[in-house]
Order: sequence, then structure tokens, then C-alpha cells
Amino acid sequence: MTFSVVIPAYNEEGNIAPLTAAIRETMDRLGLWELIYIDDGSTDGTLAAFQREREKDSRVNIIRFRRNFGQTAAWAAGFDHARGDIVIVLDADMQNDPSDIPAMVDVLTREGYDVLSGWRKDRKDAGTLKLGSKIGNWIHRFATSEKIHDHGCSLKVYRREALYDLELSGEMHRYITALLSWKGYRVGEMVVRHHPRRRGSTKYSIRKKLKGFLDLIIVKFWIQYSARPIHFFGAIGVALVGAGLLLGGILGTLWLLRMISLQGRSTPLLAVLLVIIGLQFIMTGVLADIVAKNYYATKKAYSIASREGFDETGEIGTVRALPQHRTAASSAIHAQLDDQSV
Ligand code: UDP
Ligand code: MG
Repeated sequence: MTFSVVIPAYNEEGNIAPLTAAIRETMDRLGLWELIYIDDGSTDGTLAAFQREREKDSRVNIIRFRRNFGQTAAWAAGFDHARGDIVIVLDADMQNDPSDIPAMVDVLTREGYDVLSGWRKDRKDAGTLKLGSKIGNWIHRFATSEKIHDHGCSLKVYRREALYDLELSGEMHRYITALLSWKGYRVGEMVVRHHPRRRGSTKYSIRKKLKGFLDLIIVKFWIQYSARPIHFFGAIGVALVGAGLLLGGILGTLWLLRMISLQGRSTPLLAVLLVIIGLQFIMTGVLADIVAKNYYATKKAYSIASREGFDETGEIGTVRALPQHRTAASSAIHAQLDDQSV
């Protein structure tokens, strides 16, 4: 089994060195691995911190976004580049604990899950953040009828197949498990550790969380009707046309029987209006259907400025000497690793 660890970072310079050390420590015990760092348009020294780690260890790969595209797009880029059988995602802020990974991988493979989601049962964040996320989780459970407790936890372990046809945009990373279970993948959860943020600051404001909520409406619609939006719009349209025809029919019959006069009445207009609005709904449904089909073929939600690593030939886990800027320290590490591999 091979592993890809995907970590997006937006202005997390202070966290990168200790995080990489912690990842290496854990992953070396698990097997062959690669680390994919995504610099989501940071304005601090995050990219330089990534590059320092790559100089020391060629298993560290870097994707640099042209601007800040958000955590969802960063995950999507990581997923598109991951080559491991198992893909592990966590935050760069060291709030997730890499030492949870081995147990998660174990549960995933043993229980046959496609995704195993972390559950921050004892969450170490500010009260408002926690309350907001509690309400968010509640609405989420209500809307998607998904059983998982903590949708906001980034620490998740995936079988790579599950990520193949995942389309991510907006702030949808919170709904990955909902989307996956809708597609028929098996989703499990496991209690994980959580630490307070010690370096850097949180990137999420109430405004961003609200955007996430709007995404939920789309996810809800998507889960139920994405395959055939015409079923949603068409049903409303047919109901309206039906009501209009019924009303028109009743009025027409009464008029023919000379029981009522249509002179100066607005009800016939209502009947006509219902039919027209109904037809509009059906047309919208047809258009939405076409748009949805297009959606599946649209381009990615991010733009990459540059990449380092991901060589076509290199297998995951092989430590290669990197020609550029090798420091004395990194040469020593490579020599050591070379020794180990013989
Ligand atoms: N992040 C990112 N792009 C963004 C916002 C956040 O890559 O636009 C990263 C951030 O660097 C961190 C993770 O997403 O690694 C989670 O962000 P944060 O810790 O700020 O969220 P919180 O834990 O406060 O919900
Ligand atoms: Mg955090």
C-alpha cells in the first residue's frame, strides 16, 4: 500500500517545518508515501518553507496556486495529483494530529470503508467557532441525512478510487462525505485528537461559513436531482400546467353551460398564467439538464502556477538526490537514506 498525504496551506509558514517532521515520523512507519503540499496563494513565507522541506526530502511535492482559490480547490488539486492507494488529508495548522493516521488507515482497511472521517469529539477551538460548527453540523445532518458527527474535520483517509470522479468547487470540501455516500461509497468515522492552533490564525470568517451553507443547498439539490434536474423543475412545471388546465377547464365548462359569464373576470387570466409559468418551469428543467451535463465536462476550479516534484518515472517513496541546491545537511540525510535502502 502506498500513501499520499495532501495538505493545503494558506499563510502557515510557522507550521510547515514541525508539521513535515511529524508527518515524516508517522508515515515512515506506515510504508511508502509522498507528501503533497498546496500553497493556496500564501503571501507569507509558506512556499519558501515548502521548498526547504523539499530540499531535504524529495518525497515532498509542491503545488503553488496562482492566487488564493480556497481550501476546496486546494484539496481538488491535491487529489488530482495524488498517486498513493490511500489519500490522507489534513490541515497545515497542526490542529490535526498526524499520529492518528495509522489507526485510521487500519480501521479503513479492516472495516472496508472507502472514506474514514475524523471526529473532533473534544474540539479545541473558540466557543463561537464551535457553536457555529455545531449548528452547521445539525443543518448538514438534516439536509443530507448523513450520520457523521463532524463534517468540518479535515483529517480524513480515503481510498483513491473514491476520489476519481469527485467534482469540487466553492466551499464544498465539507460535503465530500455526503457526496461520496450519495455515490455509494462507504463512509465511516473515528474519534481523533484535536489541538488548539498555536501558530498563524484561522482563515474562516462567518461570511465564509455562510457561503458554505449556500453550498449545502446546491449539494442537497445536486444529490437529489443532478442526474436529472428535469425531474425537479419538470414536476413543478407539470403541476402548474395541470392546475392551469383544470382551472381553465372548469371555467370553460361553466361558461359553456351558461352558468357564469367570463366578462371582467380575472380567473381565466390566472389559468393562462399558470399554464405559461408551468411551461417555463419545464423549459428551465430542460436547460438545467443541459447545463448539468456540461458541468461534468467543465474545467478545474483552480489554476496552478508551478509544480515541483511529481516526476513521471519516480515511484512513491523513493528518495532521490535532487540536483538543485543541496545543502550539507540535506546531503547527509540523503546519504543516510541511501544507506538504509541498500
Ligand atoms: N486554507 C487554505 N486556503 C484557504 C483557507 C484555509 O488552504 O483559503 C487551509 C489552512 O491553511 C489550513 C486549513 O485550510 O491548513 C484549515 O484552515 P483553518 O485552520 O484556518 O480553519 P479552522 O480550523 O479555523 O476551521
Ligand atoms: Mg484550523
